[in-house]
Amino acid sequence: MSTIFSQIVAGDIPARVVYEDETTYAFLDANPLAPGHTLVIPKDEYERLDDVPDDVATDLYATIHRLVPAVEESVDADATTVAFNNGEAAGQEVPHVHCHIVPRFEGDGGGPIHAVAGDRPDLEDDELDDIAAEIESRA
Ligand code: 5GP
Repeated sequence: MSTIFSQIVAGDIPARVVYEDETTYAFLDANPLAPGHTLVIPKDEYERLDDVPDDVATDLYATIHRLVPAVEESVDADATTVAFNNGEAAGQEVPHVHCHIVPRFEGDGGGPIHAVAGDRPDLEDDELDDIAAEIESRA
């Protein structure tokens, strides 16, 4: 069973497509958070960011990089929030990697990305050191 986004790429479900190349695809979100809310995806299905092969990740970033100014200019946005919900616990509903490009406007009532993660943890210096070391050892 292919994802809804694969069905869009295949042309089985209509979408307002704004960009396509060999490996990536971009279209307007059906339930936009702002005018111009765009989704950028790899054409092939990968559920999470770390499932995406290096070459496709490079292509995906290039398409995001290309589309951010295109989206901003098209709707005269002051800025954009550019984000992935990476995994169900983070709010990912469609299990096919997708980058949200959400146009932002002065006074639009939205928040920064810092608003998405719930209560902030109170971490001691040694805990921060341990976490940094754990991440560094895997990076
Ligand atoms: P997620 O919560 O997985 O990060 O975001 C999924 C996004 O896909 C949502 O913003 C939702 O509005 C959008 N979406 C879901 N189904 C469709 C569809 O059939 N067409 C389009 N264009 N967008 C969709």
